[in-house]
Amino acid sequence: MDLSIPEYILTIAPYSPGKPMDELKRESGVSRIIKLASNENPLGPSPLAVRAVENALKNIHRYPDGRGYDLAMKLSGRLGVESESIVLGNGSDELIGILTRALLKPGDEAIAAKPSFLMYDIMVRSTGATLIEVPLKKFTIDLAGFSEKITPKTRLIFICNPNNPTGSVVSKEDFEGFLAKIPSNIVVVTDEAYAEFVRDKNAANGLDYFQADKPVVVLRTFSKAYGLAGLRIGYGVMPAGISEVLHRVRIPFNVNILGQVAATAALDDSAFLEKSVQLTHEGLDFLYTSLDTLGVRYFPTQTNFFLIDVQNDADKVYKGLLKHGVIVRSMAAYDYPTYIRVNVGLPEENSLFIEALKRVLS
Ligand SMILES: *Cc1c(COP(=O)(O)O)cnc(C)c1O
Repeated sequence: MDLSIPEYILTIAPYSPGKPMDELKRESGVSRIIKLASNENPLGPSPLAVRAVENALKNIHRYPDGRGYDLAMKLSGRLGVESESIVLGNGSDELIGILTRALLKPGDEAIAAKPSFLMYDIMVRSTGATLIEVPLKKFTIDLAGFSEKITPKTRLIFICNPNNPTGSVVSKEDFEGFLAKIPSNIVVVTDEAYAEFVRDKNAANGLDYFQADKPVVVLRTFSKAYGLAGLRIGYGVMPAGISEVLHRVRIPFNVNILGQVAATAALDDSAFLEKSVQLTHEGLDFLYTSLDTLGVRYFPTQTNFFLIDVQNDADKVYKGLLKHGVIVRSMAAYDYPTYIRVNVGLPEENSLFIEALKRVLS
């Protein structure tokens, strides 16, 4: 069968997600599964969002509002930006796809860090463009290195801030210096899926720059701090000249009704958001202290997940933890062969993780 699949598609490696809890339950027979692998909210969803979804169920025979008017208006008010600047996505993942579709053609180049969020590579390659990857420096995005890779073919730059999988941030100073130097026909995407968790006051916030004279697109999501990963909803904030183009290429009803109402309600649930962020910070502090006690090294984070150097084969430690019912990520495939990535869970889950790690490493 010759389907004439383009070579650039055949070289894409499928995204490999965190192991589903039900799958491990089936395979291992362990009854209590703890998943600390996908940076989800351990508290569950916002209760206000759940109520909004229940109320909206009676409307699911209707198509959703294609532009998500209510949510876009609420975001516009919250962020102090025109609603024309907001584009909703089926998760911010989808917005990465829409951006690459709208802005790249075969032969173009995009730039991202390595390792960073894998979706940039997948989406850029899908268009036939090339992703130029710039190695992290000390686990941190090297914007000076990005600058050196800019060519006349560069159309799009992805700055994952904070960066997944390292949890590091780009400073305001570095970001501003970078923006000042790059040509104004290159779109700079700051992917801020973990913005709500950032404690570093010096971290760049893309919303401060999206109206600068350079085209900046800020991506945010309801999947992490707001606990709505399963509903798939995120948004981008960008100059109207870019949103207008994205609306041309997105599918007409890309964000479903339940996602729209849940996200709108979640924005009003500031108590839930505060609780999520506080739980994350307290959990991180507990995990850091516990690892210090064990003499295990880690890289401090600005997100709800972090890297731990297990100083052993990470794949083996990952499998060892599975036997205790704990799902984390091995970073072996990211060229960090001795690191695992773990997200903060409930206090009890964090303790059980530390206990399991102690056993696996002994
Ligand atoms: C989780 C994550 C996203 C997006 O998630 P969606 O669920 O698609 O909104 C985007 N970028 C990074 C870096 C992430 O870790």
